[in-house]
Amino acid sequence: MKIETKCLHSGYTPKNGEPRALPIYQSTTFAFDSTEFIGDLFDFSASAHFYSRLSNPTVAAVEDKLADLEGGIGALLTSSGQAATTISLLNILKAGDHFISSATIYGGTYNLFNVTLRKLGIDVTFVDPSLPLSELQKAVKPNTKAVFGETISNPTINVLDIEKFVKLAHDNNVPFLIDNTFATPVLCRPIEYGADIVIHSTTKYLDGHAIQVGGAIIDSGNFDWKANGFAELYEPDESYHGLVYTEHFGKAAYIAKARAQMMRDYGMCQSANGAFLLNLGIETLPLRMAKYCENALKVAEFFKTRKEIKTVGYPALKDDANYDLYKKYLPDGASGVIAIVINGGKENAVKFMDSLKLASNVVHVADIRTCVLHPASETHRQLSDEQLKEAGIDAGLIRVSVGLENVDDIIADFEQALNNI
Ligand SMILES: *Cc1c(COP(=O)(O)O)cnc(C)c1O
Repeated sequence: MKIETKCLHSGYTPKNGEPRALPIYQSTTFAFDSTEFIGDLFDFSASAHFYSRLSNPTVAAVEDKLADLEGGIGALLTSSGQAATTISLLNILKAGDHFISSATIYGGTYNLFNVTLRKLGIDVTFVDPSLPLSELQKAVKPNTKAVFGETISNPTINVLDIEKFVKLAHDNNVPFLIDNTFATPVLCRPIEYGADIVIHSTTKYLDGHAIQVGGAIIDSGNFDWKANGFAELYEPDESYHGLVYTEHFGKAAYIAKARAQMMRDYGMCQSANGAFLLNLGIETLPLRMAKYCENALKVAEFFKTRKEIKTVGYPALKDDANYDLYKKYLPDGASGVIAIVINGGKENAVKFMDSLKLASNVVHVADIRTCVLHPASETHRQLSDEQLKEAGIDAGLIRVSVGLENVDDIIADFEQALNNI
């Protein structure tokens, strides 16, 4: 099946007389006839949903759909994108381990890595993703256990050279994990380029309507955990009376452990109702992504004509620094997010933001409605001008998330706001 068909049909096929639309199984638990069978469920010698922290039929249908969309072997929905990133790493890292991350990643992920995971004894090295492989290799340590990146980085809108990062990881016998939130599986499927684990904040384009926070982890099933020495996946799990994930679940060992151990203990689960809403979003994802890309390119081209704007970052523009990577990894479009820098720093950026009438000023991105965010006075407001510079964030940077309104109306709004500066 092609991606449009998968978005509608994967994960749920009604049997005779069952509901056509995916039902919401609004139940914490499920009833069984015998104690023995429930025991078998705990032993994984039988399989059924038994408690909604671990699995739920509505959630499972959407997990199967996302796994199919990304070309993976299995998926786990989580309560947020942050939960997905946390579980994806804690599933394979412990105190004393180290991993490498691209420096151009979502701010929340940066803090998770730089502050919270360090408190747990997990060390990270941030690398400039534009460096050649030989330079990146210098960040590898004897205890390096993973490499992490983001397909299209938030908020600076760089396209990652996925194959270079895959090579860095695999040359060193560790998995490559990638946050594919902005691209979605409609624009890029990182597993096709060798990525091992794909992460999403489903809060963004996948849901698309700004109604439900959520996350997902998708396992390619391609990484050989045993051959590469990830002991927790091939040695008995004493907290599961000796279960060996690679033996019991084969290629799906990683995602099975994430559910059986991480979700059991951390409990960052998605709800049936949340998964139902996410599924509605995914059904129309290909239509929406095509339109976001079309609208955003027109808006980016308009920004290029304006003297009030110093730089326009949008990978689909022919003179953009990311254009070659865009051609390779995002041939169907560069999503709806544009990074612009207004001349005159913070003062003019704020004037522009406050003059907008249609675009909403929200702490969100990848929404169906056009929205804008000014890092210097919002998400990064604690930083001084000096610190902003160090973080690579210009005081005039505005992240524009182009929505699905008529593009003439979107441009007219930006035009009047620019005229107001
Ligand atoms: C928003 C976002 C996240 C975090 O997701 P939440 O659902 O807000 O927890 C992670 N990565 C990227 C690229 C994001 O845009």
